[in-house]
Parts: sequence; C-alpha cells; structure tokens
Amino acid sequence: MSTADAPAESFPPPGHDWPEMLPGWVWLAGAGPGDPGLLTLHALNGLRQADVVVYDALVDDRVLDFARKDAELIFAGKRGGKPSAKQRDISLRLVELARAGKRVLRLKGGDPFVFGRGGEEAQTLVQHHVPIRIIPGITAAIGGLAYAGIPVTHRDVNQSVTFLTGHDARGEAPAAIDWESIAKGSQVVVVYMGLRTLGELARQFMNAGRSPDEPVAVVQDATLPGQKVLETTLGRAAEDVAASGLVPPAMVCIGRAALMRRALAWWGEDKPTDLDPLGRGRPAEEP
Ligand code: SAH
Repeated sequence: MSTADAPAESFPPPGHDWPEMLPGWVWLAGAGPGDPGLLTLHALNGLRQADVVVYDALVDDRVLDFARKDAELIFAGKRGGKPSAKQRDISLRLVELARAGKRVLRLKGGDPFVFGRGGEEAQTLVQHHVPIRIIPGITAAIGGLAYAGIPVTHRDVNQSVTFLTGHDARGEAPAAIDWESIAKGSQVVVVYMGLRTLGELARQFMNAGRSPDEPVAVVQDATLPGQKVLETTLGRAAEDVAASGLVPPAMVCIGRAALMRRALAWWGEDKPTDLDPLGRGRPAEEP
C-alpha cells in the first residue's frame, strides 16, 4: 500500500508530547545514513517546525522534502569538488540565525556526534549562549552496514567493535592510532572516510598481525537505492576498490562480521548466497 498520499499532519504521530522548537534555538540533528525512513521522529518534528534548515552534503534530498515548504534551506557542505564551508563559519552562521530569532535545524548525515564535528558545533553554540537540543541519528557504521546485511556485533564473531576514521585533520591515515592495539583488540573495525587511505590502513593492520585473508566489505551509498557492496579481503582491498570504481561515501568493514552478508544480504537486488557463512555447521540459534 502506498502511504504517499497520507495526510502530512499525521506525522509526528499523536499521543506524545512532541517538543516545540522555540525561536532562537538550534536543534542539532542526525538525518541517518540516507534512507529517509531512518530519520528519528524528533528529527522529523524539527523539520516540520524549523524556519531554517542548515544541511550537509550527505543529507538526502528526500529528507529535506519533509521541511516546511516556506523554510529556508542552507547548504553547508562540500559538493562537486567545491571547497567546503569552513567549520567555524558554519557554527557562527548558526549563532547568527539563532540570534535573529530563527528556529534553526542543523541537519547532519548519520549521527551528529559521530565523525560529524557536531561536538564542536554544539560547543560553539553553547559558548555563544544559544540554547540547543541534540537529536541523535542512525550512524553509517550501524545503519549502513545493516543495509548490507552486516551486523556490527555477532556472538560468534566479536565482543567489541571499533569505529575508525580513515583520515585525520591532515587528510592522511590517522597518525595518532595505535595500530597494534586495535589490530589485537578489535575483531571488527568499521572505517568511515576510509576509501582513499584504505591501502595504508590495510598495510598497518597486516603489519600489526591481521591476516591478508581477513574478510572485508566495502559499502558505497549505503541504504540508498544505488547501494553497492564489494566483498574482498584485507590483502586485496585497496586494489579491488580501485578496480571496482567505488567512490565515497563508503564504509569499510574489516573482520568476519563482513561474511554475515552472505546470509543476510537483503536490500535492493541483494540475495543470500550462503546460509552458514561462519561455518558453524549448526543452526544459528540452539533451542
Ligand atoms: N556523522 C556521519 C559520518 C560523517 S563522516 C555518521 O554518523 O554516519 C562521512 C563518512 O560517513 C563518509 O565518508 C562515509 O564513510 C560515511 N557515510 C555516511 N553516509 C554513508 C552512506 N550512506 N553510505 C556509505 N558511507 C556513508
């Protein structure tokens, strides 16, 4: 059944005391990894009220369609190779808008506090005495991999998961990382912004003792209709990514969790190819 014609005013749903966005406030919200259905109700409530929506490059147009028709939409990201707006300029623009009495929704891809510089933005707002609300979002490491059929934790695979950024403020593979301790201590590592430095990351992991045969999955445009997934290994990952033509935004999952997509692939044209990818030889759950 199509719900496209359902009355707009039925969202957010009745029966809950949804917060009112007051003039002069900034709500800093995550938009999720792409699929508009992964927005939170608080984010939707913000979109319905905001006078101004300041959004990043990874926020899907279909999410912006939920904004008020008369809302001002301000793009504050990097697109088409143009230099990105300076982080501090964006934060100060938010302060200005709030001081002008606007109801401001600052919308970021995924979760605002996960590799999104939301912490810095929020701090600048607070330092300028602008009242804020934080609305978490579904981060790409969790939601994006779920759409590729990869659970970030699985009892037969890992007891911890590490979220890693593929580059630091200089744009290089992060210099401050203790590769040895991550390689030894983290069975599953999920890398944001890691395509460009993947060769270097893989080399560091293998130097620190991880096997070149370790499974790796790379997911481009996760949760979107054009989602692409590459299954490879640590040893071949950089070469395979280059040959595949995958481009950002993409997530890299390193570890045996990546194998689970052979059973759990479900989105788009994806189909399972192996119902026991971890080779347990018994049902997933014993009675
Ligand atoms: N705050 C965001 C991350 C911002 S950093 C979050 O919580 O998800 C930007 C990186 O996120 C991209 O380079 C990519 O690695 C990842 N990313 C975000 N959306 C994605 C998507 N739909 N598909 C694949 N990767 C995505």
